[in-house]
Amino acid sequence: MKKIAILGSTGSIGTQTLEIAREQGDIEVTALAAGKNAKLLEAQIREFRPKLAALWDVQAAASLRESVKDLPVKVVSGMEGLLEIATMPEPEILVTAIVGMLGIRPTIAAIESGKAIALANKETLVTAGHIIMPLAKEKQVPILPVDSEHSAIFQSLQGNQQNKISKILLTASGGPFRGKKQEELKQVRPEDALKHPNWSMGRKITIDSATMVNKGLEVMEAKWLFHVELSRIQVVVHPQSVVHSMVEYEDGAVVAQLGTPDMRLPIQYALYYPKRRSLSGKRLDFFQLSSLTFEEPDLETFWGLKLAFEAMERGGNVPTAYNAANERAVSLFLEGKIRFLEIPELIQACMEQCRYVEHPNVEEILGTEAEAYALIKSRW
Ligand code: NDP
Repeated sequence: MKKIAILGSTGSIGTQTLEIAREQGDIEVTALAAGKNAKLLEAQIREFRPKLAALWDVQAAASLRESVKDLPVKVVSGMEGLLEIATMPEPEILVTAIVGMLGIRPTIAAIESGKAIALANKETLVTAGHIIMPLAKEKQVPILPVDSEHSAIFQSLQGNQQNKISKILLTASGGPFRGKKQEELKQVRPEDALKHPNWSMGRKITIDSATMVNKGLEVMEAKWLFHVELSRIQVVVHPQSVVHSMVEYEDGAVVAQLGTPDMRLPIQYALYYPKRRSLSGKRLDFFQLSSLTFEEPDLETFWGLKLAFEAMERGGNVPTAYNAANERAVSLFLEGKIRFLEIPELIQACMEQCRYVEHPNVEEILGTEAEAYALIKSRW
């Protein structure tokens, strides 16, 4: 039995991880954590029988404790609860599938206690990659990418550890507004931006795909995961989402991973790495694929992506300012309080105005997050 714990079990990645556990039948789920969805968490507890379960909200955790008192599960809450899951001895792998910088501390704690990380929570690497990656190396803990593009790169790197990468080609679907210009995006409503052409994902990441900020975060994530210079990462718009990403080697060979858009594949690959397991679902039919197309990203319309390269070049806490500003901007957009095109404006303002810290520790990263939130609150 493979033992895993999941942070964010009620979300898009979390529920698909549990689908794999259900289908494979040889995964023991030792702990589950969610934010406030007590109803779904209770159903998951009843099905998977973890030892530990966490809800962020103290009140919600108290009522969950009451409703599962017939089961041998301990219910915890808050950051302490997430840290208790991250450091419990049983699981070999911690799946980090919560949204936002909340994932940093549990990820660090899990690495320190020797667990492999199946990393979906890209914000952790974007903001604290300089802490996480050296720590994982020191503790000899693998960071297994769950993000489909990074999993594709990881898969394309297998057997090539000795070979020099000349380029990482990170594919992007282009989102629902591909081909549109700023003028046409002035009146975009949340329901328009939530219609992703190929992938079904959580709300926040779906908006990030529409602005292409998600690709910006992925560029930063790739830099940390694969130790490549920023200038060697190229974003390629590929609307069909069949080629999930590619690696070009110094002899010009390009190795890619292709597949249908199904997040269960990268999740399962991370859980069983280096083994491949059978997985139900559709297969690519090359006779049905009329064409695969590739384009340059439009950095003028989707300038949130351009800002990501700038944030990474400036380094320090600037990627944190970028990420925090985006998180708040996406919430405000979903609440109907700002316009779609204002999202990158808020990001730029925070990148420029947050106090620069060259080598931020976790407190300073969280301080920058608070500073960006306060700045946005004071102006929008
Ligand atoms: P969702 O919004 O679908 O799910 C988020 C999960 O985090 C939920 O289980 C939620 O619980 C939980 N959560 C929220 N706040 C807290 C908290 N304070 N404490 C504990 N748990 C909390 O997100 P996704 O699954 O889409 O994304 C998760 C991460 O994976 C993100 O970093 C995203 O960028 C990344 N990712 C997602 C992909 C996808 O296809 N969805 C693809 C690649 C990366 P509750 O339900 O109770 O609110």
